[in-house]
Amino acid sequence: MNNKFLLSLVEKYESPLFVYDSEKIESQYKRITDAFSSVKSLKINYAVKALSNVAVLKLMKKLGAGIDTVSAQEVQLGLKAGFDPSEIIFTPNGVSLEEIEQVASYGVNINIDNLSILEQFGQKYPKTPVCVRINPHVMAGGHSKISVGHIDSKFGISIYQVPHIKRVLKNTGMLINGIHMHTGSDILDIDTFLRATEILLDTVKEFENIEFVDFGSGFKVPYKKGDIETNIEEMGQRLSTRFNNFCKEYGKDLTLLFEPGKFLVSEAGKFLVNVNVVKQTTSTVFASVDSGFNHLVRPMMYGSYHHITNISNPNGRDRYYTVVGYICETDTFGSNRKISEITEGDILCFDNAGAYCFTMASNYNSRYKPAEVLIYKGKDYLIRKRETISDLLQNQIDITL
Ligand SMILES: *Cc1c(COP(=O)(O)O)cnc(C)c1O
Repeated sequence: MNNKFLLSLVEKYESPLFVYDSEKIESQYKRITDAFSSVKSLKINYAVKALSNVAVLKLMKKLGAGIDTVSAQEVQLGLKAGFDPSEIIFTPNGVSLEEIEQVASYGVNINIDNLSILEQFGQKYPKTPVCVRINPHVMAGGHSKISVGHIDSKFGISIYQVPHIKRVLKNTGMLINGIHMHTGSDILDIDTFLRATEILLDTVKEFENIEFVDFGSGFKVPYKKGDIETNIEEMGQRLSTRFNNFCKEYGKDLTLLFEPGKFLVSEAGKFLVNVNVVKQTTSTVFASVDSGFNHLVRPMMYGSYHHITNISNPNGRDRYYTVVGYICETDTFGSNRKISEITEGDILCFDNAGAYCFTMASNYNSRYKPAEVLIYKGKDYLIRKRETISDLLQNQIDITL
């Protein structure tokens, strides 16, 4: 997706605009499946919450992926995209028994992450096997908001509570068919991951009817030059060997599952915005764009870095800008960034805009959510219309005062 092509899309669909490149999604998918090609039974379940447009889900289905979902609504989107319930796993956190029952009634695999629901579900449906989410208490990533494996985390059942899980099985007669972990959104090194793997496999040995082991996700992708990326090839080699040996020990070919979100879609996405105003203050040059944390909240919520380029003037003189939004909040996308000289009306491009960007968008300041475009086999497809005022009013009930 070169600059000229991206600019033509803004001409056609206006800004702000999300654009997703299916070729990149496909090549990332292939990297994982290639890396684990020595595992007999491998399944990649795309984490829907990263980017949930039905057209993207259909693409995932075409590639051969299943999906990982965290709400009954994501499950419904997956069914709409054509996934068979057996290709869907439901991995919620803190949801009600009713929601789990609803999803289980579709025939979707259930992953339970607390003892209370496990026991209640097992009492009512002892014939429905479930997966359990284990917390191996291994720290991953450096940011407290995206580390979900440590001791105080709300996610998963502690490995120290495995005896309790076994008691629930005994008391209810239910079966466990899978063991799952998801240690966080950024696996920093393979050694840490393999340490968690050992804990997970030790847990598998505690149960007799396991069919799959779900290693969650946390694959790191580069956001800027010099960023560490998960070495998927090395990880594939080391984990596959360990997993294949473990299957022999366990006496059965288990399915190895991953549920990547970011790794599949982050780099495939670009977010294109228009520069409304260039404002020089005593200390800073601000570039204000037609967006804000209503469309892209990661920089403000997590301090995430999204690389920004001026695609209208890619070869100009580099200058320093603080790129901000147009909503009435401090909504800084990037401070003191070196960007090719910006003129009002230029189009800026944010990289890594595929994962957790559109799906976290809101209507704050009563702004419309952006349109989304998918590039597939060289053609651009509008996959979500820009909103209009009727979208903002749709569920409001006008009363007479
Ligand atoms: C969010 C999430 C994922 C995806 O994480 P990424 O960092 O986007 O790959 C996978 N599994 C579960 C259970 C999740 O909650």
